Amino acid sequence: MSSLITSSYSRKNPFPSLLRTNRRLTREDSSKETRHYEVSIAGSGLIYEVGDSLGVFPQNDPLLVQEILERLGFSGEELVPDPSGEMKPLREALLRYYAVTEPSKQLLAAIAEKDATASHFAIFSTPEAKEHLEKYLWGREVIDPLLEHPQVHFTPEEFVKLLRKLQPRLYSIASSPKVYPEEIHLTVATVQYESLGRQRLGVCSTFLANRVSEEVPVSVFIHSAKHFRLPEDPSRHVIMVGPGTGIAPFRAFLQERRATGATGKHWLFFGEQRRETDFLYREELEAMHHEKTLHRFHTAFSRDQEQKIYVQHRMLEEAKELYSWLEEGAYFYVCGDASRMAKDVEQALQKTIELAGGRSPEEALTYVEAMKKEKRYRKDVY
Ligand SMILES: Cc1cc2nc3c(=O)[nH]c(=O)nc-3n(C[C@H](O)[C@H](O)[C@H](O)COP(=O)(O)OP(=O)(O)OC[C@H]3O[C@@H](n4cnc5c(N)ncnc54)[C@H](O)[C@@H]3O)c2cc1C
Repeated sequence: MSSLITSSYSRKNPFPSLLRTNRRLTREDSSKETRHYEVSIAGSGLIYEVGDSLGVFPQNDPLLVQEILERLGFSGEELVPDPSGEMKPLREALLRYYAVTEPSKQLLAAIAEKDATASHFAIFSTPEAKEHLEKYLWGREVIDPLLEHPQVHFTPEEFVKLLRKLQPRLYSIASSPKVYPEEIHLTVATVQYESLGRQRLGVCSTFLANRVSEEVPVSVFIHSAKHFRLPEDPSRHVIMVGPGTGIAPFRAFLQERRATGATGKHWLFFGEQRRETDFLYREELEAMHHEKTLHRFHTAFSRDQEQKIYVQHRMLEEAKELYSWLEEGAYFYVCGDASRMAKDVEQALQKTIELAGGRSPEEALTYVEAMKKEKRYRKDVY
């Protein structure tokens, strides 16, 4: 069994993988940039299963690091401890080991101590100030309070001790090991936005998009997701709701179930802003639909018409058929945005059961709770 083979690579000892493919999925004229990546794990001994995520250790933007160094009057050669205590040149420490975007409360408190005009930062350290802190931090990065208080200075060591550790980011794996045993595919939205007059770049998504070349290894590890597996019984039907990058694990599910000849049926709900510019993996998914790996396929493009249409609206339009799949024991999967989509989809699921199953709201809730208990309702949301 493959699970008996172990790799020496892990989060603590990540594998230096090479990025083989970096391709834009959304069209150039889309307001979003979502990319497809293929990472080689050849020779690593790493084993993954569909449903798992890949952990990626990013590096910070060298231009942002340079700006911070200049603001603080450092050359970058100064030696500082990294988070594990090992001495490193400051520039390297800021590029690889410390978070130079999200400011810590400690950094704000230290600025408040050194500059009376920042005394209002001191309140951020109190538990009651959570909301104020969140409001202040929204759209602000480490560079902002530094520029807002130009007279504040630190020693290099003092400064890094006020930073958080740079954390790896997780990405749902978009490939099946049955089809790509030596590769891992990802579907990643590049985070970029403007705030306070500055262009902001998501650390890991722009690292992958712009700063990884084919020769420079990227440190990765497998993050197992036992809660997000396909049904053990291959004859069970699978319903997948995966708008945006939520499509990633379902591309893997479909590849896997096709490779294993699973007899259960598949139904995918995919959504994005516009069909012409944002239909991720359109050709692959339409081909799977055509060849009947994907038995039912519904899309919702929110901005193609005046009234916004989302995946949950498509679910309700299909309530009767959806309910009959549930009654046949289908597994229901959701992946993608946790802040709104996952809640809206859960409500639509309950409504489906009410409408098509002729049940009261309380009975529909009990039905959904039972699906959760039976592990037939599985979520991977972020
Ligand atoms: C299990 C799991 C699976 C995931 N799978 C995927 C996947 O398949 N594909 C994918 O793309 N992502 C996925 N993610 C999310 C991913 O891990 C990262 O969080 C995402 O790529 C952003 O990371 P980043 O380093 O690029 O951005 P960061 O540097 O972490 O910046 C993101 C932060 O920027 C801030 N921000 C963003 N937009 C704005 C705005 N408009 N105004 C103000 N502030 C803003 C927010 O604070 C946000 O948290 C997954 C997450 C988890 C936990």
